[in-house]
Amino acid sequence: MNDGHDEFLDALESGDGYYLECTDGHGSLPPRVVCPHCGDRDLTETALPDTGSIDSYTVVHVPTPAFADEAPYVTAVADFGPVRLTGRVLADEESVEIGDEVSASVGGADESRSVVFEPR
Ligand SMILES: [Zn+2]
Repeated sequence: MNDGHDEFLDALESGDGYYLECTDGHGSLPPRVVCPHCGDRDLTETALPDTGSIDSYTVVHVPTPAFADEAPYVTAVADFGPVRLTGRVLADEESVEIGDEVSASVGGADESRSVVFEPR
């Protein structure tokens, strides 16, 4: 499976996270062929801001098998300006708050590789 998401994670892992920006300035996450907001097909890879802020979060007590050893853990939606990312927060549930500043990187290995947020 190579649908562009792996490429996105590779870039994020090496510190070169990006999003796709259309000519109207809408942000979206790869893989995309057209802007989900306006249908523009002219998408440019644009550097992801270094930090985002937590918009909402959920404490997961019943994890997917890949994260069974790590429950409970926190997943969050973080606002990176033009785009929002969903990922696991590398912090205890007690210490996570809405508005916390985080940076995005990649955790896990192989099929369980996914976006993680590190508090700043
Ligand atoms: Zn657009």
